[in-house]
Amino acid sequence: MLMRFDVLTLFPDAFNSIMADSIIGNAREKGIIEINPINIRDYSSNKHKKVDDYPYGGGSGMVMTVQPIYDAFSSIVNSVGYKPRTIYLSPQGRVFNQKIANELKSYGHIVLLCGHYEGIDERIIEEIVDEEISIGDYVLTGGELPAMVMIDCISRLVPGVLSSEAAFMEESHYNGLLEYPQYTRPYDFMGRKVPDILLSGHHANIEKWRREQSIKRTLEKRPDLIKNEDNI
Ligand code: SAM
Repeated sequence: MLMRFDVLTLFPDAFNSIMADSIIGNAREKGIIEINPINIRDYSSNKHKKVDDYPYGGGSGMVMTVQPIYDAFSSIVNSVGYKPRTIYLSPQGRVFNQKIANELKSYGHIVLLCGHYEGIDERIIEEIVDEEISIGDYVLTGGELPAMVMIDCISRLVPGVLSSEAAFMEESHYNGLLEYPQYTRPYDFMGRKVPDILLSGHHANIEKWRREQSIKRTLEKRPDLIKNEDNI
């Protein structure tokens, strides 16, 4: 196993259904990545398995309580014998990108804490969380979709998950640029033909064309990415 994700969540089934198929599902089956959704509710010491309560000071909604989260987290620490890198999915965190995905891959084992309702009691963040990460400047109902976005993105970088490293190294964002346009059969679609260079068989010229296209479309679609001449 090369990368392990433990997910503290109130909705573990979401992970087992969405992350069971295709590339990620195959990587799980091969044992290259491990995704363990852990139901926070199972650790509640409340007789009704309650996991939330009213906010001190009033206000709308409910706040997730510290006890079940802390006990669920402790069960991971006790079973592995160390404290894994722990991330709280939060709209207040550092905004996720490809560079952060690379950085997190190097930990080999991360814990993702998913909030719900109005969020979680601040003291659990202070006690167990190393970093807060957001998937964008908008608010979702829970941390499950953001956790899945991160798991999917990080997993693709783990050796053996994709057929070759080149598969992700050429993709958008890996080197700060967007990927060149891709074509497959048919050659002619309603008069739109595949660029001739791609049929030339001349690998050096194809590579040069792809590099130019990559720079051109980054300038057109995401000029903000070209801040740094090292990317080009
Ligand atoms: N009251 C919180 C605030 O204003 O910062 C937002 C709580 S949100 C409704 C519920 C949960 O969804 C959060 O605890 C977090 O885990 C998750 N969440 C919402 N938006 C997110 C985002 N953009 N990135 C990551 N997680 C997010």
